[in-house]
Amino acid sequence: MTPLPASTLSRLECSNCGRVHEALKLQGLCGHCDRPLLARYDLGKAGATLKLHEMAGRRSDMWRYGEVLPVAGEPVSLGEGFTPLLRAPRLGANLGVDDLRVKDESLNPTGSFKARGLSAAISMARERGVAKVVLPTAGNAGVATAAYAAAANLEAEIFCPADTPVAFVQAMKLLGARVHLVDGLIDRCGAAAREAAAAGDAFDLSTLKEPYRLEGKKTMGYELVEQMGGCLPDVIFYPTGGGTGLIGMWKAFQEMEEMGWIGSARPRMVSVQAAGCAPMVRAFAAGATRAVPWENASTLAAGLRVPGAVGDMLILSCLRDSGGTAVAVTDEEMLAGVRLLGRLAGVLAAPEGGATVAAARRLREEGYLAAGDTVVLFNTGTALSYMDVLAGVPH
Ligand SMILES: *Cc1c(COP(=O)(O)O)cnc(C)c1O
Repeated sequence: MTPLPASTLSRLECSNCGRVHEALKLQGLCGHCDRPLLARYDLGKAGATLKLHEMAGRRSDMWRYGEVLPVAGEPVSLGEGFTPLLRAPRLGANLGVDDLRVKDESLNPTGSFKARGLSAAISMARERGVAKVVLPTAGNAGVATAAYAAAANLEAEIFCPADTPVAFVQAMKLLGARVHLVDGLIDRCGAAAREAAAAGDAFDLSTLKEPYRLEGKKTMGYELVEQMGGCLPDVIFYPTGGGTGLIGMWKAFQEMEEMGWIGSARPRMVSVQAAGCAPMVRAFAAGATRAVPWENASTLAAGLRVPGAVGDMLILSCLRDSGGTAVAVTDEEMLAGVRLLGRLAGVLAAPEGGATVAAARRLREEGYLAAGDTVVLFNTGTALSYMDVLAGVPH
């Protein structure tokens, strides 16, 4: 394996007020306005070695894009990223889309794309001298945190809702994390994690409250371009909770344009949420720049049960700037989507992945999608983690 290319990380910049923060220090939200920080790179330098048509021979995980990732030393890696972009012609025919592809993130370590973000964030936490991390989670982020903390020899304390699917809780424990079941939703878990961080000198890995999970997830954008030979799809369907992947890919497209990988054209970005928790859909429809937290959030798609996202402004501006939209689908529609991904594409999808099928069908019927559009659906996790939930559902 060739050596890891050197990071060109230069600074952290507030996504809201633009203030610059020191990248050599571990940072949370912007100290001035409490909004997420974004990592910035010397893209001139990065682009001198990171070239779209000279990627062969690089390691086959997300660290192949090392110039535009934050880690200076050896990353904490379990082989995350570089997942397949599958052609799904039978599913496409079913939906009335000629060129339909599925980015299958269920093949990541720990069964979801959360591996990407936590590989990056835990690598940075270790590099900056952190000994213990805390995290609120709906399931997948907790399993990934437990795995990467174990690989990095860090202590992990995780807070998840008491009704989190058992496979997630068992996996976190097997991976050596301390797990707390909290009475309430992810926002309650977030508060508990903050208290634990303050009390125990631990670093809070909540999504977008530190800048590096986003960097891991943005690699999905680089992979799409590489796997499509320098092209981008017309439309991307992304099941949106905290929106980290959506914001990350949008950031990746900008970086790639600055390095000359792509032009100024962008895919239309479609956020897919659950009917029982759709704060972004509501805010997008209202033309708002911020999203009001959703009351009594309820859906079996654990990853979509996020009543309020820290990155709401970034999600909404990405949807608008791309000519995208936001769609809510019911749990029944998601499960029908899971069955179609299984039967027509051979993909064992999480309900969140199934949601994208339902959304694509709706938008095709409404004429937002044309038969000739190139469409990418994100299957963000594996069905295996939800078997206790899925077992109760008639097939
Ligand atoms: C976390 C999660 C999501 C939502 O991801 P965000 O980038 O935070 O919006 C979607 N699907 C699954 C399976 C998840 O675990």
